Formats: sequence, C-alpha cells, structure tokens
Amino acid sequence: MLKNGGGRASHRLIISTRSNPNPTTSAVVDFSKPLKTLADGSSSVASKKRPDTGSTSAPRSKGTKLSVQSPPEISDSESEETDLSSSEGDDSSWISWFCGLRGNELLCEVDEDYIQDDFNLCGLQGQVPYYDYALDMILDNDSMSGEVDGEEHGEIESAAELLYGLIHARYILSSKGLNSMLEKYKRVDFGRCPRVLCGGQPCLPVGTSDIPHICSVKIYCPKCEDLYFPRCKYQSNMDGAYVGTTFPHLYLMTYPSTNPTKPVQSYVPRVFGFKIHASFG
Ligand SMILES: [Zn+2]
Repeated sequence: MLKNGGGRASHRLIISTRSNPNPTTSAVVDFSKPLKTLADGSSSVASKKRPDTGSTSAPRSKGTKLSVQSPPEISDSESEETDLSSSEGDDSSWISWFCGLRGNELLCEVDEDYIQDDFNLCGLQGQVPYYDYALDMILDNDSMSGEVDGEEHGEIESAAELLYGLIHARYILSSKGLNSMLEKYKRVDFGRCPRVLCGGQPCLPVGTSDIPHICSVKIYCPKCEDLYFPRCKYQSNMDGAYVGTTFPHLYLMTYPSTNPTKPVQSYVPRVFGFKIHASFG
C-alpha cells in the first residue's frame, strides 16, 4: 500500500516530536531521511510532518531554552515558567498537537465529544486501517502500548491522521464545527484570495473530492468563486477530503453575512489605454 511509506516516515517524525524532551536537538537527526519517502508522493502525512517539528516543538523548546539560559540565582520565576511550559506540552491532547502542526492550519480542533459518539463515525471503519488503534491515538487512550511494534506504530500514526481528517470533514458540517471554522475565518487562518481585484478577500478551504487520496486541499474565494492553491506549500500537502466539497458552500449559507456582496470586478486588458477589440479574441 502506498500509505506504508508515508506512515513510517511520519512515525519517526511524530515520535521524535512528541516524546523527545529536547526537540531542538533531535530535529536535525530525525528529519534528514524520512523526506525521501515523501518524494514518492505516497501520502501527505510525511511531508507535513517535517516542518511541523519546528512549530510543534516551539513552545516546548522555548521553555527548555529558558531553563538553560536563565542564571541559577534568578531562576525562581523562570523555572516555574519552564515547568509550566513543559507540563503544558505533555498534557496537550493529540488533537491540539496535530492541529498545531505547520501545514494543518486549515484544520480546526474537533470536539472530543463528537468523536466519542459512534454515530458520527459511521462508515469510517472500512476506510481507515488500524481503525481502533487510530481512534485510541486521537483520543489519547494508550490502549496499544506494548502491543504493537515500531513499524506498526508508524502506520497507526498515519491512520490516525487519515481518520482525524475524515472526522474533521464531517465535523465542520455540524453547527459546532461550522462555528469553529467561523472563528478561524475571522482570523483569516485560511488565507486571502490571491486575485488582485478581490482585494484580499479571506478564503475558505475546500476539497475537490470527498474521497481521500484523490486531491490536495484548495482554497475557495467567495468573491470571485474560484479555487486556488494554498499559498503555504505545507498546506498544499493536506488531503482535500479532510475538508470535503461541501464545507465552504454550507458555511456561506449558514453565515450569509460573511459572504461578500460586492460584484466582482473584471480586469480589462488595454493597449495604449484602449480596450482590445473582441475580434482579437
Ligand atoms: Zn477571489
């Protein structure tokens, strides 16, 4: 299966990111090789993971740096801060961690209650390998410790991403999910339309297929009603099925006030100030 390669790669990366207490030093070691796997284009998983380490580990390494750099005699307050930041890193849920990775800015955090409701996951079991393990990983249930080897663990990491993405595509069509995406839209987390005449219109993510492994995610401009590649290359690696084909349109129906009403201006080509005659095609 194509996914295996990506899964292993992501496994190494994820493991190093999450379990390593000092990610700043390990990042160099862990990321040189797995990238090759990405080149297969086998999965978006690994390609996203690579840069993630930087962003994911940022808060933790920040804490670490504080403890290293602060002089011992004045370290009372700073060591407290260090403790807080390290415990914060350990306590963060898989979902928060995953959504905080670079390239995953288009995803919102799915409510755990939503995931724990079997009704919402109906039909996903057949689409995701290691389904039970993947679900446990997403929900931070450590049921699989000691039962799987390293290779399988990597594949489960990959499966967890796929499962989360597919759950996410459903969640953002629910009222809670739409509301989460509204907050992200207000913060322009999805980027702006690159078309000049759209005047920096905030965009929404969209997939051109609801089936995983078919397309990467795109951004949709509600003003010119066209699709664009995300500006961030890491976002471009995300599977479009994690957002799906319905989301932006249901969103705009749900929150019509966010739908731009201004008519779209068209660019008019001119030569020496004159419009070009239609006969020139
Ligand atoms: Zn536009």
